[in-house]
Amino acid sequence: MSDPSDWQAGGCLCGKVRYAIDRSAVVGQAHCQCRDCQRATGSAFATFCFVPDAGFRAEQGEAKGFTVQGTSGNDVTRFFCADCGAQLYSEVGVMPGLKFVKSGSLDDASWMQPEAVYWCDTGQPWVAMPEGLVRHATNPG
Ligand SMILES: [Zn+2]
Ligand SMILES: [Zn+2]
Repeated sequence: MSDPSDWQAGGCLCGKVRYAIDRSAVVGQAHCQCRDCQRATGSAFATFCFVPDAGFRAEQGEAKGFTVQGTSGNDVTRFFCADCGAQLYSEVGVMPGLKFVKSGSLDDASWMQPEAVYWCDTGQPWVAMPEGLVRHATNPG
């Protein structure tokens, strides 16, 4: 059983969509520098932690999903607030049953410790990722 204090709240920029994740259920944390993440975030990379669906609960409002086909040929759906556009989490066809929660949407993401970088091949030359992270040229695996 997870401790109530393990639940970390998050939400969008306007506050309409709110959710919480169970920190004790987090199975991975990473940065992704793929072009889709760059476009979707409007920045150089996305940072997320991923939790099983049971470790995620919607608390308020409803996120809108936008689906694209990832390079693997499987769907990637990015969820965001339809009012303010803030990115919240993703569902990835190749890894069903997980929510990839965007770090910037968490009320407090200071506890995170990303361990890997995906899509180094398309990383911007002006971004230097910290030493010690596992680097993948494209997707992991
Ligand atoms: Zn919003
Ligand atoms: Zn990506």
